Amino acid sequence: MIRELADRLISRRRLDAEEYRTLLSGWDEATLAYLRQDAVRTAHKQFGRGVYVRGLIEVSSCCRNDCLYCGLRCSNTSAERYRLSDEQILECCREGYAAGFRTFVLQGGEDMTFTDSRLEGLIGRIRAEFSDAAITLSLGERSEESYRRLRDAGADRYLLRHEAASKTLYEKLHPQSMSWENRMRCIEALKRVGFQTGVGMMVGAPGQSVSDLADDLMFIQRIEPEMIGIGPFIPHCATPFSAHPAGSLPLTYLLLAIVRIMHPKALIPATTALATLSANGRREGILSGANVVMPNLSPSEVRNKYAIYDGKANRGSEAAEGLALLEQELNEIGYRIDYSRGDYI
Ligand code: SF4
Repeated sequence: MIRELADRLISRRRLDAEEYRTLLSGWDEATLAYLRQDAVRTAHKQFGRGVYVRGLIEVSSCCRNDCLYCGLRCSNTSAERYRLSDEQILECCREGYAAGFRTFVLQGGEDMTFTDSRLEGLIGRIRAEFSDAAITLSLGERSEESYRRLRDAGADRYLLRHEAASKTLYEKLHPQSMSWENRMRCIEALKRVGFQTGVGMMVGAPGQSVSDLADDLMFIQRIEPEMIGIGPFIPHCATPFSAHPAGSLPLTYLLLAIVRIMHPKALIPATTALATLSANGRREGILSGANVVMPNLSPSEVRNKYAIYDGKANRGSEAAEGLALLEQELNEIGYRIDYSRGDYI
């Protein structure tokens, strides 16, 4: 039965909700190996042996929101807050560009000092100085008008994890001031204004069931995002979920394999959360169909302050200065860094 479902997923590239629930409830190691093998084959056909690198610049640890799982939540008074100036961000881009990066990811909490007009100016300067680089933003929920302005200014991609396709689960993970409807509205708006749009969720989030994950897969299947970020939940000590165990790595690999089979062309990172939980996490992510890594380009003095969960990896091959190490790690499993922009095509 489970093998039949795996074969059906491989041949049709989709299942229905009930089939995903059955697959996620009944998989075993053999199913995982079987699906990962096909996911890797699928990724090879599309991307060869190259893994795209994105330079991650964590622009601000200030956030107006209070997501229950996040160390940067506004009610965490022990979090160290910083925000980079435009000049500091441009300097990170310069260092990244010199190292070979052709995508910059500007990620931060919902920090309203990053106004539309400030971001338009910043995006314009990055675009002018690095005309062949892609600009990805990950700055949370904004209005459609704001997204349009950022897109018109020259940003190419936007990451906004949906976190939970189930409204009930979304509400368990977020304060009342945030709404599932608004998150969905933002994702639709990002697609409408023409961003390559990224969604995703944590695996093993508090209160998450197999049925919730099946809903996530149906959501991803329906909206066909260009980017899909899936990583294990990792607790942060100063949040209400501090005692909750981290998400399962094998289940994360299974979900990566499923979304790769579902969307052969999608850009799928082997996330930092994988690398944080296991020294082999990133390579196992790539061996589950992922084709992107996002080394940290932030100034080294702020890296430990962007603490969304405990122990977040930001050194060695997780860091921009560790590209040689990353290349070596990738070579060991038969891959190499692909320094091109790596757009969704
Ligand atoms: S997950 Fe994002 S929006 Fe939520 S508190 Fe953390 S930084 Fe803010």
